[in-house]
Amino acid sequence: MIKVTVWNENRHEQKNPTVKEIYPKGIHGAIAEFLESAGHDVKTATLDEPQHGLTEEVLNETDVLVWWGHLAHDEVDDEIVNKVYQRVLDGMGLLVLHSGHFSKIFKKLMGTSCDLKWREADEKERIWILNPSHPVANGLGEYIELEKEEMYGEHFDIPAPDDLVFVSWFEGGEVFRSGCAYNRGKGKVFYFRPGHETYPTYYNKDVQTVIKNAVSYLAPSGSQMPVYGNAKPLEAIAVK
Ligand code: ZN
Repeated sequence: MIKVTVWNENRHEQKNPTVKEIYPKGIHGAIAEFLESAGHDVKTATLDEPQHGLTEEVLNETDVLVWWGHLAHDEVDDEIVNKVYQRVLDGMGLLVLHSGHFSKIFKKLMGTSCDLKWREADEKERIWILNPSHPVANGLGEYIELEKEEMYGEHFDIPAPDDLVFVSWFEGGEVFRSGCAYNRGKGKVFYFRPGHETYPTYYNKDVQTVIKNAVSYLAPSGSQMPVYGNAKPLEAIAVK
């Protein structure tokens, strides 16, 4: 059983009745629900809780952290960001969703601006599977189609992913690297694009499949921490 914490800024749900109607239990609630039915041990955490719900205890007990944020990236405490960063380097998985591309934690892990083009025009998104053998693509067809989504377009200012699993095409003509896998320290990071708050994207079965797959893929491998620094020789070294 994988221990998952679904973190959401949870602000749109309070301010925008449309979002509240689509996600009455919050985006975190909707994601937690299908991850729970997949058999995971799921908790949620939100921005306005003390320490954003991400206490040391919670983080130490988390195998995979899911991150959704948009309006309030700047309100996330740097100290918490540093703790999440360290946990990723130590092996915790991190799944960054949609507008989380601009979160402090994602930018810190990428080291680039993570900027992109965007447009809200109720347009069709077709997410093509570029790497069908990648575990995040398990059980999908050739592509996922979303009737209406926000557009994100290239150029997306990220380092070249270690694995590029999805690329999105939008009705208005742009394309976007929408499923990007990275190794950071002992941890794995996955960015998955769809999930604008005014669309019911997280109820889409294929989107749920990707998120469930990503949680399994991102779970810590359990390998030993590498040893660094000055090292004694394993064999006697011949005197030369
Ligand atoms: Zn959005």
